[in-house]
Amino acid sequence: MAGIRTLEKLDVAGRRVLLRLDLNVPLNGGKIADATRIEAALPTLRWLMEAGARTIVCSHLGRPKGQRVPALSLEPVAADLAERLDAEVYFAHDSVGPDVEYLSKSLQDGGLLVVENLRFHAGEKAGSEDFALQLSRLGDVYVNDAFGVMHREDASVVGVVPHFEQAGMGKLVEKEVAALSKLLRGPGKPFVGILGGAKVSDKIAVIESLMHRVDALIIGGAMAYTFLAAKDIPIGDSLVEENKIRLARRLIERCTERRVSLFLPQDHIVSDSPDGEPTVTRAIEPGMKGFDVGPESVGLFSDVIGRAQTVFWNGPMGMFEKEAFAGGTRGVAEAVAAADAYTVVGGGDSAAAINRFELSERIGHISTGGGASLKFVEGRDLPGIAALKSKGA
Ligand code: AMP
Repeated sequence: MAGIRTLEKLDVAGRRVLLRLDLNVPLNGGKIADATRIEAALPTLRWLMEAGARTIVCSHLGRPKGQRVPALSLEPVAADLAERLDAEVYFAHDSVGPDVEYLSKSLQDGGLLVVENLRFHAGEKAGSEDFALQLSRLGDVYVNDAFGVMHREDASVVGVVPHFEQAGMGKLVEKEVAALSKLLRGPGKPFVGILGGAKVSDKIAVIESLMHRVDALIIGGAMAYTFLAAKDIPIGDSLVEENKIRLARRLIERCTERRVSLFLPQDHIVSDSPDGEPTVTRAIEPGMKGFDVGPESVGLFSDVIGRAQTVFWNGPMGMFEKEAFAGGTRGVAEAVAAADAYTVVGGGDSAAAINRFELSERIGHISTGGGASLKFVEGRDLPGIAALKSKGA
């Protein structure tokens, strides 16, 4: 990407490289439940090791809120990295301070040190200048390869950068930026945006910005009910954001003005509760709630997706965690995988769905960052990316 140094443009041999990674893996009883983020970090780690850098890895894990929470230690992640890289990986029990600095200076060329969870210090999330300064003392060169936090202003993402003469992006960020930029610059037409998930409020900005670029917008998931309510279509007791109905009405009008085709679910899988008996219906009765889009809707959405040249998808079509309400999300995932198009799936739930349905091989790009990919597609300069750009190419 123009404006940001790649690894190849940095002098790393024999120097200490402070590497910000997103090693925020889900843990289950102290075990790593899903290693996708660790896998995604390996190309940059291997590159730096081979280039003879002395790499100091920092990351957050979970939400310890500025406290030392032993269950959220990065130590098991460091052990996992050692195994995957078949290399010795040192671990520091804090992320800043003289002892950690000493360890960073004891590394050999090609060596690796993982420091403790950044969020054990409140200064990380607060973007504290002092914490950023302390962290910057761990390296001579800074590399950010944590795409999932690029939309944050955390100390390790933004505040540290001015303290380095050389700063750049790792292989994962390079790949994410290249893949997502294709959606912003001259995407193949028709361009279809698919949005789902629970809340309209989280997706307003992306709907507004996608409207300028897409030819068709498909809306499913719980957020569809606010749009259906805006069209005075009965939605029974389905989830609805009453205070967003007027906004939904305005967004529907804007779609018409811009000649963007808007597709909403026509039928639904309903029940009286998430654990109740599922039934298919076109009209949702009072007392019933829509938990998934129905088969007719899947057929309609699949037709639209099948004609696309470019597809961006973020958010499930229903409560897909429950098998009874997973059909809509599975159907859309299969249509996206089958499309002869450039397909991008934003992180979070839709990426999890693609993995669960074993379709990842057939998707153009699956982003590792849910929030970051949405913000990127909104066309916003992410703070982490802007900070790296300020250091030149
Ligand atoms: P979000 O974080 O906004 O992308 O929302 C994802 C969550 O929305 C998932 O946990 C789904 O279970 C949930 N969801 C999607 N559709 C529905 C629905 N119709 N009713 C209730 N929850 C839903």
